[in-house]
Amino acid sequence: MRRGRFAPTPSGPLHLGHVRTALLAWLQMRKSGGTFILRMEDLDQSRSRPAYAKQILEDLRWLGLDWDEGPDVGGPHAPYAQSERLADYGRALNELERHGALYPCFCSRADLATLASAPHGLTSAGPVYTGACRRLSASERAARSLAKQPALRFAWPAGRSVAFFDDALGAQRFAEGCGGDFVVRRADGVVAYQLAVVVDDIAMGVTDVLRASDLLDSTPRQILLYEALGRCIPRFAHIPLVLGGNGARLAKRHGAAAVAQLRAAGVAPQRIIGWLAWKSRLIDRDEPVEPRELVDCFDLSRVPRTPLAAGPLTPANL
Ligand code: GLU
Repeated sequence: MRRGRFAPTPSGPLHLGHVRTALLAWLQMRKSGGTFILRMEDLDQSRSRPAYAKQILEDLRWLGLDWDEGPDVGGPHAPYAQSERLADYGRALNELERHGALYPCFCSRADLATLASAPHGLTSAGPVYTGACRRLSASERAARSLAKQPALRFAWPAGRSVAFFDDALGAQRFAEGCGGDFVVRRADGVVAYQLAVVVDDIAMGVTDVLRASDLLDSTPRQILLYEALGRCIPRFAHIPLVLGGNGARLAKRHGAAAVAQLRAAGVAPQRIIGWLAWKSRLIDRDEPVEPRELVDCFDLSRVPRTPLAAGPLTPANL
């Protein structure tokens, strides 16, 4: 049985980009008779707000989406909020450390800026880390630990490139060491997204990861983590981004595309779903629909591989 999920970070309101991802992930599971999970990625407490988490769930329900497992409905893999799953991340870090897959990194932000001037890293994570701390001896590590709490990095295996088939974008290949050794726990103790998402997807039995394409280049890192933890790798599908009116990536600050704002302006939920379904080529005309009316016509191969401009649905254009 397939298991998919939508995993928002409650650091801002739900916008049209999130809705498209949630809708397609929901349709993928509803069409295949799978289970749809809602997971709240509130790991970074400095950015997450409970009010946003509440609003995201409300907005999704208002749009006509539902979930079989989630923070408010529970389920066999509860809790469904990352802030309550820290013990799992700690266990995974211990396991990776036991296998020798991690090393402490004492570099400061300033060090990283000078060490890694070549911007050839993964776009989601900045320049490649040169591996300066990977080469420290045990005694150097011990000495530096006295002065500074280190971050933990995953050591990208030498000579390793990562290839996978993306259900939306086709064959993908990432060159050897493309992003360098990446952080799995920050120096302030906060577990990195890359680790938490893999640990949760394993624990929740996720078979299908459908998410926005800005996370495409996180996938090789996550595949290496699955391998290091000895677990099965799910299928991945990365959906092109929804862009704001200025052609830039929709961000939390583009309030115009926030569902709450469209709702307040009197836009019906079926209109939002219909517009996104039309732009995703699931229906032929821009007409109001309920998510459940789209289940039969859902086909990931129809979704364009190019970004989608969100202009026409802003309240100003109604
Ligand atoms: N929490 C991430 C976000 O809101 C999504 C993580 C994922 O789907 O893997 O961008």
